[in-house]
Amino acid sequence: MLSVIVPAFNEEAMIAAAASRISSVLDAANIDFELIFVDDGSRDATWAQIRAAAEENSRVRGLHFSRNFGKEPAMFAGLEAVRGDCAVVLDCDLQHPPEKIPEMYALWEQGFEVIEGKKSSRGKESLAHKASAGLFYKMISKSAGFDMEDASDFKLMDRKVVDALNGLQERGVFFRALSFWVGFKSTEVEYEVQERTAGESKWSLRKLIKYAITNVTSFTSAPLHIVTVLGVIMLIASIVLGIVALVQKIAGAALGGFTTVILLQLFTGSIVMISIGIIGYYIARIYEEVKGRPRYIVSETCGKE
Ligand code: UDP
Ligand code: MG
Repeated sequence: MLSVIVPAFNEEAMIAAAASRISSVLDAANIDFELIFVDDGSRDATWAQIRAAAEENSRVRGLHFSRNFGKEPAMFAGLEAVRGDCAVVLDCDLQHPPEKIPEMYALWEQGFEVIEGKKSSRGKESLAHKASAGLFYKMISKSAGFDMEDASDFKLMDRKVVDALNGLQERGVFFRALSFWVGFKSTEVEYEVQERTAGESKWSLRKLIKYAITNVTSFTSAPLHIVTVLGVIMLIASIVLGIVALVQKIAGAALGGFTTVILLQLFTGSIVMISIGIIGYYIARIYEEVKGRPRYIVSETCGKE
């Protein structure tokens, strides 16, 4: 059986459409499946829609979070609820085409354990968005040692992979990267990002920046090394300037150089502050992890026990 995990946040307009489209695609391909909707604390009628879908179709199950915890916890809640032999995660807005699932499933039957959905185009995104997403993935890919460009959350995983992901202890999870990190025999399937047909994207610029910082700090310590590099650059600069100052002193021309002093002070000040800020992000991550709070809280469930 294939478990289909669909995180949904304020998607009242999309639940019924997603359920029927996914069901018809999988029925046509003769794939036995269950559909797990994870309602990430929606404030609209999403949960009512999921319950209605579960009543209509016994293969639909639902989890309802006590509040909005974010897409990552929602996907992991889905993974923990998986009863199938493999699982696929896709967006509720159908931007990940369900029509690709049978192709992925066939690859799983051939023995692949992770089938990554790779964006063949990024859909409609602004240039700034594309550039910053590019930088973000480059950083993570470089430091983690795998190529994550054009990666997405659309992927099909074997039960073994699901269990490995469920075994991870950290609170700050980043599904897209962790599914690379756990390894396993993987392959890719290209897909076109579809247009959203109803509702709107849940990502504001602020949310995206926060997402990038959280995931970079939870996945790589590269920014901490940048701090060291900045320190070394400062050291070299100070040696050069120190020599210049000494030579001037010996030559009897020690006065002047006021501008240099001001610039150096400003420069050192900013580098020190930025470095403390970077370290602060890591301390915040440690603090979050050490508290050991659950990733999410389920307040209600529906569908077959
Ligand atoms: N989502 C979620 N929790 C959130 C934000 C989004 O579960 O806090 C879900 C959302 O319902 C959708 C998926 O994550 O199924 C992708 O969200 P969206 O379409 O807003 O993102 P985009 O496609 O614009 O990247
Ligand atoms: Mg979307």
